[in-house]
Amino acid sequence: MNYIPYGRQDISQEDIDEVVSVLRSDWLTQGPSITRFEENICKTVDSKHAIAMCNATAALHLACLALGVGEGDIVWTSPITFVASANCALFCGATVDFVDIDQRTYNMSVQCLEQKLINAEKAGRLPKVVIPVHFGGTSVDMQAIAKLADKYGFSVIEDASHAIGGSYKGRPVGCCQYSDIAVFSFHPVKIVTTGEGGVCVTNSPALAEKIQDLRTHGITKNAQKMASADVGPWFYEMQDLGFNYRITDIQCALGVSQLSKLNSIIEKRNTLASSYKSLLKNLPLKVQSITESVHSAYHLFVVELTAEAKRDRRSVFDILKAGNIGANVHYIPVHLQPYYEQLGFRRGMFPVSEQYYDHAITLPLFPGLTRDQQVYIVDMLRDAIT
Ligand SMILES: *Cc1c(COP(=O)(O)O)cnc(C)c1O
Repeated sequence: MNYIPYGRQDISQEDIDEVVSVLRSDWLTQGPSITRFEENICKTVDSKHAIAMCNATAALHLACLALGVGEGDIVWTSPITFVASANCALFCGATVDFVDIDQRTYNMSVQCLEQKLINAEKAGRLPKVVIPVHFGGTSVDMQAIAKLADKYGFSVIEDASHAIGGSYKGRPVGCCQYSDIAVFSFHPVKIVTTGEGGVCVTNSPALAEKIQDLRTHGITKNAQKMASADVGPWFYEMQDLGFNYRITDIQCALGVSQLSKLNSIIEKRNTLASSYKSLLKNLPLKVQSITESVHSAYHLFVVELTAEAKRDRRSVFDILKAGNIGANVHYIPVHLQPYYEQLGFRRGMFPVSEQYYDHAITLPLFPGLTRDQQVYIVDMLRDAIT
């Protein structure tokens, strides 16, 4: 069997044609494809505003800045995520802490969050922002998070990097009904891609404007916002220390084309996930539980080996690798990274996350995965653990 990666992009002839047409046009960046992509994102996720940029890490950074995160502030996220979900707060000079996961959904545990908030209130160390991560494309229980946000006065950024096309309580992830801002990633392993790319979505005009300014150096060309009188058509003002976090029209043309296939991509991923579940029945492993209120985008399909498995995770991983299967592990808990250990985090602090990490393997899942490949993967896995 040829090498099977854990994820890969799905690029069609239409995608290629869209990109080529931008290359022949007048605009490679700051042109109409970006606006078109942002409008299509809004329609897809049912949000009022979308600000596309160079990657989701930048989007998380600007989301934090727009919500006023700075020195002296505290931001909480899940340990089972990509490092960017936590790093974005450090970029702003804030302090990061983590909330352990739920052992069934692998998402931030609402129960742990509530307990941690009770303790933090007593200690006078409540978070300014909480960043739940929709692990594998499965939405966090956002209504419960929003209730706690109201009670304890923190803002919410959804790290929805895995979850475009997913839904929660009948509405698309990203509609921001229960959050201030949501962020999506368009890296090639994610659900739809722009090569590199990310977006902030929000229903707040003020947050949208702030993020838009910070994306382009903190510069405004809007005369109504200027401190001094508009002295001529060339004039602009830098009012904030922003960044160049722009995305290109070339990338956004790909994004528009990819987004038009979102429904069929999500359907395909869900079909593949269901066949995994039936093929894996009765094996010594656990899969992510998904509640009735959630339709997952199925960015990842993770199996967690149980105590009955014949081999440990490392051996199983090596067997899959030897069989040309690009298994992966999502994620090494962020608090166990050397950079975070140097900030004082240690093994033992988030036991559910650590227990999950020690037994988890991500199996290949992408729209182009064939039935034959899936059966082959499951056969290899069955032999390794039974
Ligand atoms: C991919 C990912 C990011 C970062 O996305 P980039 O677009 O690569 O910057 C952030 N958070 C999570 C959960 C991710 O999976």
